[in-house]
Amino acid sequence: MVNWFVMESVAQAQPETPAILLTPRRPRPARPFGLYDLTLPELEGRLRGKGLPAYRARQIWGWLYRQLAADYAAMTTLPDALRADLAAELPISTLETVRVLSADNGETLKTLFRTGDGELVETVLMLYPDRATVCVSCQVGCAVGCAFCATGLGGLTRNLSAGEMVAQVVGAARQARERGRVLTNIVMMGMGEPFHNYAATMKMVATLHDPAGMNLGARRITISTSGVAPKIDALAEEPWQVNLAVSLHAPNDALRDGLVPINRRYPVETLMAACRRYVERTGRRVSFEYALMAGINDAEATARDLAALLRGELCHVNVIPLNPVDVLPYERPDAAAIQRFAEILRGAGIPTTVRYSRGLEIDAACGQLRAKAERLAEAAPPTVTG
Ligand code: SAH
Ligand code: SF4
Repeated sequence: MVNWFVMESVAQAQPETPAILLTPRRPRPARPFGLYDLTLPELEGRLRGKGLPAYRARQIWGWLYRQLAADYAAMTTLPDALRADLAAELPISTLETVRVLSADNGETLKTLFRTGDGELVETVLMLYPDRATVCVSCQVGCAVGCAFCATGLGGLTRNLSAGEMVAQVVGAARQARERGRVLTNIVMMGMGEPFHNYAATMKMVATLHDPAGMNLGARRITISTSGVAPKIDALAEEPWQVNLAVSLHAPNDALRDGLVPINRRYPVETLMAACRRYVERTGRRVSFEYALMAGINDAEATARDLAALLRGELCHVNVIPLNPVDVLPYERPDAAAIQRFAEILRGAGIPTTVRYSRGLEIDAACGQLRAKAERLAEAAPPTVTG
């Protein structure tokens, strides 16, 4: 975000400096870095540098991702000197819990974290009878700026590191364990656009997938994108069999340009072509997300256009009745309109599920809790409640 005050004062102090050199940026501490930022081979390399054998790295890895140890003191199979050395060198996590909110009879937990440089990010754990899913944020804010999304309102502040994403997952795994459950699934559907933070997202996948640690199957990880078409092609080339979800929300450019601004760069035809190549290359179906908004994209004619667009594709549509954001004008359609929309798709042979988002009363839609916390923080700083 542009800090006009800094820009103005620099400009006054150095009037001869060309405008292009005046990079307006708010001063921020160094980017936080912790143990969760290392892959297993990187950790092995670091320990080798200290003259330690590779099995020590595997031991630490087991403590981190099997025992879910929160501090070095808990790693009782390591020599005291190594624990002290590591503790002095780098923290395990760089995220601090600010607040935990619970909804849906405790089946939904939303955690607000503060990063080492003072940014706020949110993570949601959803407990279902057959699975426990964590919704992970990959950026502070988002540059895409979808019309109906709370995260995009303030633009992008910065990418999260792989370690900051891993920390969210481990935190959710601990919360699940405290409730006698095991974390089974990850969806990259929190704040931010994962394909604008591609390398760190893939590093997170590598860390969580590692069989010596959490050993989470790639099929249990879903990456959701607003439609960064070139990165869909990149994902198709990765060794990981992760799931791809595409936030379509509209079947044509006229409508999609206004809802998902990145559509002007990668229009519907370009996006669909990338999805087709992805299916051909991987044999895996694509999920299309469709946030249903009253009077915007819920007309029966729009459902028919969507069915025509997706006919013959290996895909699944998730119709998600909008989670309204208080400062935005969009509304959720009534139940009849939602069912009618889904029925038109099903009637055309498109596999379709209506999914209601969890945690409405705790602002669990992407970016809402952070947006509210930042407004409240103007009055009083947030407090730790869990
Ligand atoms: N940036 C990525 C992933 C994070 S958003 C993406 O856009 O796909 C995760 C999902 O939540 C997306 O499908 C997004 O369109 C949807 N979403 C955002 N705001 C929403 C809201 N207010 N109600 C319902 N879905 C919303
Ligand atoms: Fe960004 Fe996704 Fe929100 Fe769009 S919906 S602004 S891409 S986080």
